[in-house]
Amino acid sequence: MAVSKTFAADAIEPVIAAGQRVFGENRVQEAKAKWPALTGKHSGIELHMIGPLQSNKAKEAVALFDAIHSVDRPSLCEALAKELGKQGKRLRLFVEINTGGEPQKAGVLPQDADAFISRCREAYGLAIDGLMCIPPADEAPAPHFALTGKIAARNSLKLLSMGMSADYPIAIAFGATHVRVGSAIFGSRTAV
Ligand SMILES: *Cc1c(COP(=O)(O)O)cnc(C)c1O
Repeated sequence: MAVSKTFAADAIEPVIAAGQRVFGENRVQEAKAKWPALTGKHSGIELHMIGPLQSNKAKEAVALFDAIHSVDRPSLCEALAKELGKQGKRLRLFVEINTGGEPQKAGVLPQDADAFISRCREAYGLAIDGLMCIPPADEAPAPHFALTGKIAARNSLKLLSMGMSADYPIAIAFGATHVRVGSAIFGSRTAV
């Protein structure tokens, strides 16, 4: 997946022209401003939401995206279930795991993951497809990818969203099905 957050359409166009079809964004408003014009012009684009999602944005997110990688709390599950039903859509859903237990980061703690995934399925009727993780910036990523893979396997989840520009080869070695690569494709995100 090419992570196009902060880049405008003129930077995204050449990447589409090169054949890339799967893109990631981390803000609903930004994606809404940029993507409808691009998906109108180019067929087969898949748009993935990889950033934290507020429940009150579930309606817009379900309308705009093909996948959400940041399912991490019951209130969001409830909002997504309601909107998926209303809009008659089926999105690919990933539960985000906070493998490092970092307080500033979103995601479900590893020890709570099994219960949360069951709750998504049983209480909200959500079909969960996979797991996502963002390892702590200052740690070796491999143990975090391994842990995420283990939680996925014991919950029969097939998709693994892990790996970014700096560590995607390691993530692939640990079974990633979706690597989220931004700066290695688009260049560095300079402050604007
Ligand atoms: C920005 C972002 C990426 C891409 O990061 P790069 O280091 O630029 O590849 C991947 N995942 C998430 C959740 C992001 O917010």
